[in-house]
Amino acid sequence: MSNRIHMTTPLVELDGDEMTRIIWAWVKEILIAPYVELKTVYFDLGLKERERTKDRITVEAAEAIKRYGVGVKCATITPNAERVEEYGLSEMYKSPNGTIRALLDGTVFRAPILATGIVPYIGTWQKPITLARHAYGDIYKNVELSVEGELRGAKAELVVTAPDGTEKRALIHDFGQGSAQTGIIQGVHNRDDSIESFAHACLSYALATRQDLWFGTKDTISKTYDRRFRDIFDEVFAAQYAQQFEAAGIEYFYTLIDDAVARVVRSEGGFIWACKNYDGDVMSDMVATAFGSLAMMTSVLVSPKGYFEYEAAHGTVQRHYYRHLKGETTSTNSVATLFAWTGALAKRGELDGLPELSAFAQRLEAATLTTIASGVMTGDLYELSTLKNKQKVDTRAFLEAIKGFL
Ligand code: NAP
Ligand code: MG
Repeated sequence: MSNRIHMTTPLVELDGDEMTRIIWAWVKEILIAPYVELKTVYFDLGLKERERTKDRITVEAAEAIKRYGVGVKCATITPNAERVEEYGLSEMYKSPNGTIRALLDGTVFRAPILATGIVPYIGTWQKPITLARHAYGDIYKNVELSVEGELRGAKAELVVTAPDGTEKRALIHDFGQGSAQTGIIQGVHNRDDSIESFAHACLSYALATRQDLWFGTKDTISKTYDRRFRDIFDEVFAAQYAQQFEAAGIEYFYTLIDDAVARVVRSEGGFIWACKNYDGDVMSDMVATAFGSLAMMTSVLVSPKGYFEYEAAHGTVQRHYYRHLKGETTSTNSVATLFAWTGALAKRGELDGLPELSAFAQRLEAATLTTIASGVMTGDLYELSTLKNKQKVDTRAFLEAIKGFL
């Protein structure tokens, strides 16, 4: 054991729930602890512990990521009414991801993991497309009204009141004009500082991964709102990134969102696609599905202050967990959880000047892909794989098989 790889700064480890919690422990036991003198600062974000601490543990974990810089997070339950009952919760705690994101002020980057035999539905896609979603504002913080009943025929206006009380008004629509007297209205906003940190996160991630950055909005139609996104990206790029991009041989490319979508489909991949909140919500499901599966997707929260949190893009795989509890074997895909660990270890290696740690993370990722290419895979991939010699194995056997290639 003495020749295990040494770590200097600990990783902030955020444990979670259900099937992914089982996988979490097995990944460490089988594929990490035998090779790395693993140093972590451990936070149990399992729902029981969140209840015991009244969710203080989630905030403490986020604070620790700020202190140490790099975290790795297991999937966690976001409580709903059934979970409140199931776990006897005293409160319906908020999504831990939401809490952590708000504290770290980040952008979430999701990229598919490509494996031999798992063929993207879009034939030209050779390389991963990383989607960067702005996670603040727009319709996710909207206010809406239905114009009907006593509001029938109403005049809808946008009113902004300055601190000194003066008002600025703009007509949205006069429902009294024309025959249709009823309808709907909506108000949305975003903040310059949030758009700026989104731009920094995307541009610095593009530099760190040496990939082009694409961004698209509907600024031809939305000449103030969407235009502001474009302008802020342009300003941040010109002021702080243009030279570094040139030196790295990469490009920042802005185009209309429609054109971006058309170009993405025709592309061979290999770039970062920055999306406004709604575009990112919709397009990340399209990109994930077109590449194969949510269990073959990395997800990393990057904050403009330089904090990183690695996680899997999927949930706690509840249905498999209940089968596991009954003593049945499951065939749950651990790739996204494993890649959260390799992403975090590689980043720690980079920040601490430990090339052997980063190299180990790379070797572990390669061994995982070799295992799948050799035909050994979990049930979800078995359904998708075009390999002739494919073989479905259980959750633990898949991890043991990876060890054989390490
Ligand atoms: P889920 O855990 O992602 O699972 C949905 C279904 O997708 C599974 O039943 C399974 O399909 C398939 N699947 C997902 N991951 C898989 C994997 N690694 N290997 C094999 N199959 C996989 O979503 P959910 O069931 O909607 O949510 C369960 C819990 O997770 C919820 O409490 C939710 O709050 C939480 N959640 C957490 C996060 C997070 O922490 N990042 C994200 C999303 C959801 P089959 O059953 O058909 O095999
Ligand atoms: Mg969505």
